[in-house]
This record gives sequence, structure tokens and C-alpha cells, in this order.
Amino acid sequence: MVTATCGEEIYGYERKIKSICPACKKAIEGAIYEDSGKIYLRKECPIHGQFEDIIHVNARVYQWNQRFLKDGLKADKPATGAVNGCPHDCGVCPNHVNTPAICLVDVTNRCNLKCPICFANANVTGYVTEPPLDEIARIMEHFRNITPNPPLTLQLSGGEPTVREDLPDLVRKGAELGFKHIILTTNGLKLAESVEYCLELAEAGVNGIYLQFDGIQAQTYLSTRGRDLLDIKLGAVENWGKVNREWQRRHGKPRGGIVLVPTIAKGVNDHEIPGIIDFAVAHVGTVVGIAFQPIAMCGRIDREKVHEMRFTSSELQGRIDAHTKGVLNPWYPIPVISEFARLIDWFGDVPTVEFSCHPDCGFANWLVLDEKTGQLLGMKHYVDLDAALGYTCRMWREIVADGKEWNARWLERKIKKARFLFEMQKFVLKRGHIFSLLMRLILSPSYESAEAFMFGKNLMIGCMHFQDSYNMDLDRVKRCVVHYGYMSKDRSIRQVPFCTMNALHRERIEKEIAQRLGTYHDVRPEEKIPVPVATVG
Ligand code: SF4
Ligand code: SF4
Repeated sequence: MVTATCGEEIYGYERKIKSICPACKKAIEGAIYEDSGKIYLRKECPIHGQFEDIIHVNARVYQWNQRFLKDGLKADKPATGAVNGCPHDCGVCPNHVNTPAICLVDVTNRCNLKCPICFANANVTGYVTEPPLDEIARIMEHFRNITPNPPLTLQLSGGEPTVREDLPDLVRKGAELGFKHIILTTNGLKLAESVEYCLELAEAGVNGIYLQFDGIQAQTYLSTRGRDLLDIKLGAVENWGKVNREWQRRHGKPRGGIVLVPTIAKGVNDHEIPGIIDFAVAHVGTVVGIAFQPIAMCGRIDREKVHEMRFTSSELQGRIDAHTKGVLNPWYPIPVISEFARLIDWFGDVPTVEFSCHPDCGFANWLVLDEKTGQLLGMKHYVDLDAALGYTCRMWREIVADGKEWNARWLERKIKKARFLFEMQKFVLKRGHIFSLLMRLILSPSYESAEAFMFGKNLMIGCMHFQDSYNMDLDRVKRCVVHYGYMSKDRSIRQVPFCTMNALHRERIEKEIAQRLGTYHDVRPEEKIPVPVATVG
């Protein structure tokens, strides 16, 4: 692994970039620059003119974030050549920087809701894209065979995956192929209908639910989904809670948690952020996190509307801080955890998880419910994060410099682990269950230890800011760790970084699959698409 930083700046925050033209989708030149303390992206297409979008509301914080840019592990065997240039070679092509952390498969584009904001489901497109089980199994196999670092997480998405009767079979196949974390992305309708169905999915192997969750007010659902879905969301949480209790009774631990997934659009549901956090805190245990997704505008939309609805991840951080009294601030971007993950997996000689997406892609932190006081705290109250992360980074660099990244002996790993544990004690500010869980993670690195960290009285508060053709930065997509898998016309398996999938490739790929499967009927592309919004990943 090429470690770009241990916190020093190696990459100008003001810089030239490559992006795409929102009109013709060709790759064009652009720049990220500061103006009046904010960060903007400006680009120019020779045919369609200039485009500008806001990236961050605080230039100093943005500059600090860029120190955490890291390269990950490149795939040994790219699936395509570098022919047309990024982002038209997906993929992945030889220029892609990282192996995926997540294998994402859209198992259908059918849905049991007809949300006015969705432009991608079969009700709107007029064709059905639903690969059969054996095709999805081949996609899963392809991902599990990626070297040097196959993903451990499988995310089954759509459309609405639960409309498929064979969904439990797909899940079982994923588990059989070695995926440890199997996430179901869902609107919650079928989960709310039947606890037996939830249990069937859990028994098949689902151990994570990504529940589309726009807010806690009926009016929000009426605007975003055209129907009051609040009771359905509550029903899904309640039923999955029952599954966890049953699992605890049978196996001595919960099956997995729900991550609430709110897509946030300015002026539509940004006022719901405090309520969503309070809801998650009230249901902690069943709900293990919130993955906010600021809206990505992936359909036809005019420029004014883009500016009106754009909600940056930095604005989201401000809203969360205002509601949680800043306990999660400073907000570290996702790649900050790269060396920690590599190091503890190296101690245990177990497969690692790739966190080296671009720092602009998102952030994650944990809200901790203090068991003695009932107070909500952040990780920073328990550990001196800067010092601990800096030490971790230095130790990992040492291992790489010694050429021990791949071929260390058992004893070498044990000695380094002992030193790491000893040094880590110096950075402890407060003991508690979160500290014990961290120690368990270091002492016995495994998916189970990571799972234990995720459950209990902790709430992951994270964000992934999916890109659209207005704010796309090709350096971000080259580092993408969330890859959509599909079978191409020549029946080879392709991996498409998720932001390029939504902003560029989705329509072509889904039509191609539907044509190959003979489910391409009457395409009606001009059907009403009131507000184009990215699909929830
Ligand atoms: S996003 Fe990655 S796979 Fe796609 S063209 Fe760019 S570098 Fe290649
Ligand atoms: S899906 Fe988009 S936001 Fe997420 S890691 Fe990939 S490029 Fe970044």
C-alpha cells in the first residue's frame, strides 16, 4: 500500500481536476478553488460552456481533509483496458486505484412503491432488469476472486430487492461465497409486513439492513415518496428488532443492525436531520448507524435547481454538530481509518477492508452512549484520536518500509501487536465499553470483533456524498471503493465505480442487461420524472 499521508499535506486543496460535462458527458478540465472561505468546482466544456458548483462551506476544513488522501491496493487484473479515458473505461480499468470494499448488485429494477423522486425503477423506464440467480452468482464469484484484496461486504440493492421471491437464495449464495457482511438495501415495506420474512432473510445470511429513511415526519414522505411511509419505517425497525432479540436468544448475539439511510435535499428534508439522529439514539441497538446521503442529481435537471437543492457534506456536518453539541467534531474523512484497518488485519493475518476512497467521498464517526451518565459522547472523549491515528500510521509505514506487508512471520506480527497495544494505552482518555471493544478488535482482529464494535450502545454517524455530473471529480471516482457488478454483453463481469454508474452508465447498462435477458419491452424514457435524484446505494 502506498501511504500518501500520515497527516501532512501532499495534495493541494486548490488544484486542477478532470470532470465531465453534465450535458455531453465528455471528460473536461476543471479546477477546485477557494473563494470567500468556501470551496467551489468550476469547469468548462468547449461546447456547453461553464459550470460551477459548491464543494465545501469551510475552506480550512476542506484543506485539512485533503491530508488524508491515500492510495489503496490496485487490482491485479483489471477487467477492461484504458482506451477511452476515465470515466468511460469502467471497469475496472488499469487506472483504477483501489480494489472494492463493497460488491454492490442491483438484483432488480422493479419496486413495490412508485416514488415521484425515482427515475430508475421499472415503472418509469418501462423495462425490467433482473438478472437470474446464476448470473448474480457469477458476479459475486468475480468479486470474491479479486486479488490482492477481495471485498467482504455484499450489498443487494435495486429497485426494491424484496420483490424477488428468490432473494433468500441470493443471500445464501453470497454467504456461501464468503461474503461476511451481507447488506440489504430496502424501503422496508416487506420487512414491516412480516417478522417471519425478516427472520427468513436473517437465516439466509442478511446481517445488515440499509433502510431508506427520509425523516420522521409524515409530510416528508408525502413530498419525497408520494405517500406517508412513516408507519412502514417504524414497522421495519420494530420487526428487525424482534429478529435481533430472537437471534440473541438462539446465538447469544444480535443478528445485525439497521443503518438508516436518509437522502438529504436542501429545502426538502434537511430540517429532519435532528429528528433522524434522535430516532436513531432512541432505537440504538436495533439501529446501529445513520448513513446520510446528500442528494446527487443524476437525471435531467436545470442548473438553478442543482444550486437550490445542493447540500454538501460540510453543511451536513454543521447540522449534526449543532444538534449533538459538537461531540463528533472534528470530522475525519473515511480514508483516515485505512492504516488502522490494514494494521489490525495484518496483526491477525486476515483479509482487510479497503477504506481508501477520496477524502471528499464521506466521513464516519461514532456516537457513544456513556453507560454511567447516559450522556452522548464522541470517540474523541475516549481516545486522543490524532495521536492514536498518527502512531498507527507510523507503525504501518514502518512495516511497509521493512517489506513485511505481505510476508511477515507469526512472531513478528505478535511482537508488533504487543508494542502497538502498549503504546495505545498512552492515548486512552477514558475507559468504558467502547474502549474494551476497541481492545478486542486489536487483540483478535476478525469480522466478529468488528461486528461487536458496531453493535451495542454505539451509533455510526456517517455520510457518503455520491457525485453527479455537476460535481464529479475524476480523481474521486478513480479511488472509488463501492463497485457495482454486472454481466456485460460478452458475458464477462464488469465492476463499475458507483458514482460513474449513477451519473453516466446506468441507463445504458440496464438496457443492455434487459435486452440480453429479453425483458426489454417498451422503453418510455420521456415519462414523468418530477425531480431526478440518485438512487440510494
Ligand atoms: S472510474 Fe476507475 S474504472 Fe472507471 S474509467 Fe475511471 S479509473 Fe477506470
Ligand atoms: S461511490 Fe462515489 S462517493 Fe462513494 S466511494 Fe465511490 S466515488 Fe466516492
